[in-house]
Amino acid sequence: MPETEKPLFGHPWIFIRGVPSLTFLPPEGPSEVAFAGRSNVGKSSLINALVGQKGLARTSNTPGRTQELNYFVPDGYSGEGGDLPPMAIVDMPGYGYAQAPKEQVDKWTKLVFDYLRGRATLKRVYVLIDSRHGIKKNDEDVLTLLDKAAVSYQLVLTKTDKIKAPAVPKLLSETAEKIRKRPAAYPFVLSTSSEKGDGLDDLRQAIAETVGIANWK
Ligand code: GDP
Repeated sequence: MPETEKPLFGHPWIFIRGVPSLTFLPPEGPSEVAFAGRSNVGKSSLINALVGQKGLARTSNTPGRTQELNYFVPDGYSGEGGDLPPMAIVDMPGYGYAQAPKEQVDKWTKLVFDYLRGRATLKRVYVLIDSRHGIKKNDEDVLTLLDKAAVSYQLVLTKTDKIKAPAVPKLLSETAEKIRKRPAAYPFVLSTSSEKGDGLDDLRQAIAETVGIANWK
């Protein structure tokens, strides 16, 4: 490994904080990226696969964690710029429960929108879309929220092992076409399978570039 290249995703990550409301947000420090998606989209599996740690992000059916922004950072980095790690990953609460009461949906929207609007260190949100389902109405609502908050976001297809391989490029271009007119959307869509490992390196690279630490692999 060249000396300038440091392990980022190959390094242990730790959970540092669950944020149920904005008063609990860590002070703004290193750049961060967030992951959003309908519950069961494969968000926890993708975060765990990215860092190579099975139990880091807990599945969304863990009671109590569902309405919190969960913060993860690389463990033990002292970093060149002081004691801060070079980046954080934020696992946003899953949305789109069929049975979610309106009160809970409103709470989710408030927490997420307040966070999105006010967080200067948030560089991009990765919005996960299940390959088998494509963009649903509640995904559209979240993309609209991101457009309103003017936070850059990129779509990532999950579970591509569940569809036929030749269908993946077609789905990628159809999905890109659907978001073409959305002001805050990054125009290229990524595809991943946490199960098979497909697309993970591209996503790691995209994240490292987004937070400006491309030397940390
Ligand atoms: P979350 O609710 O978005 O955090 O979703 P989870 O990561 O808990 O995943 C939901 C379900 O989808 C679980 O049963 C996972 O095993 C499954 N899953 C997640 N990612 C993949 C994948 O890449 N391929 C397949 N086949 N299943 C997956």
